[in-house]
Amino acid sequence: MTLATGRQHIAIPGPSIMPDRVLQAMHRPAPDIYDGELHGMVATLVPDLKYVAQTEGYVAMYIANGHAVWEASLQNVTDIGDTVLVPTTGRFGHGWAETARSIGLETEIVEHGRQTPIDPDRVRAALRADTGGRIKAVLAVHVDTSSSVRSDIAALRRVIDEEGHPALLMVDCIASLGVDRFEMDAWGADVMIAASQKGLMVPPGMAFVFFNDRAKARRAEVSQVSFYWDWTPRAEPGMFYQYFGGTAPTHHLYGLRAALDMIRKEGIEAIWARHARLAQMLWGAVEHWGEHGAFRLNVADPAHRSHAVTAAGLNPPDGDRLRAWLQDAAGVTLGIGLGAETPEDPTASGRFRFGHMGHVNGHMMLGLLGSVEAGLKALNIAHKPGGVTRAAEVMAG
Ligand SMILES: *Cc1c(COP(=O)(O)O)cnc(C)c1O
Repeated sequence: MTLATGRQHIAIPGPSIMPDRVLQAMHRPAPDIYDGELHGMVATLVPDLKYVAQTEGYVAMYIANGHAVWEASLQNVTDIGDTVLVPTTGRFGHGWAETARSIGLETEIVEHGRQTPIDPDRVRAALRADTGGRIKAVLAVHVDTSSSVRSDIAALRRVIDEEGHPALLMVDCIASLGVDRFEMDAWGADVMIAASQKGLMVPPGMAFVFFNDRAKARRAEVSQVSFYWDWTPRAEPGMFYQYFGGTAPTHHLYGLRAALDMIRKEGIEAIWARHARLAQMLWGAVEHWGEHGAFRLNVADPAHRSHAVTAAGLNPPDGDRLRAWLQDAAGVTLGIGLGAETPEDPTASGRFRFGHMGHVNGHMMLGLLGSVEAGLKALNIAHKPGGVTRAAEVMAG
């Protein structure tokens, strides 16, 4: 006998749960890409994507994943040999830096470990030391999905401006867009990247680079950008095929249209508030369980925790046992732990991650947490019973 049969709950930090409405929108015959309805529909995506990003700037769409727009964004604003400053709060910051090095950039890493947000004063110090103006951009991950640390992007803009440094501020919102509050223009991000499969609730396969006029001016100074990564024709297409530099990702586009309709209807403020409350339910439960036993959240200060993903841990091997039990007995899949980089902490054993981005509501979160509590009991993992009740109290408000 198993209780896992039924609708599976994928609680990994991307790809996220896809709404039936998105799936149904994609279930259709191939459209004409040369003419007709698709062209008008794609034009409607642009203002809605900018709404989600809270920008009046530009957006370039790519048939790509997040790794690709790490590269695309850099290709448009840097030349080989340029230096970028990368304050890291986990695995994904290092990933962006590795991409930068792979295309001939120099990286200056400001290592923050995996439990605290980017310290604007450490970025300030690095910029101040850059008297020769080598640093062309600051690469910041808004929410590092490995650690679930969220950093203050507006604070980075302030230190760049206060230092009078010309570096562009480039932000990875792949995990956080449409989940955690992000206001591109108000916060002063020059470039922002996102992908389809997290808060946007669409299958993996599309990614986005948003940019402003400052970044556009930098693009004009760059000596060479490849045809495929060049954001100019994508953001300002004269012909339809220029949106994608070739065949459009037709079915993803219909899925994205449906997802953006849902986002518009709920409203971005309400979406941010929903994710905040869902995350608080989860944190309340884990903190309650952790009063007895080893269950712990990775990030101590709630102000620095993402609302998209939560990294947590148990003593090894209980993390892996719990994940396996949830999968086999309850039909719930948690994300694996990621991002042990230090000699003191060589493996991610015991760690795992809850994804709670996109198409998630209160009853799903309670079902997830109820299943976790059942697993703790079934596996005899020490915990204080009653975390689910705690989450219900948070849900009730
Ligand atoms: C998921 C993710 C990526 C990588 O995206 P892929 O689509 O897997 O290439 C990069 N950065 C962050 C913050 C992410 O959450």
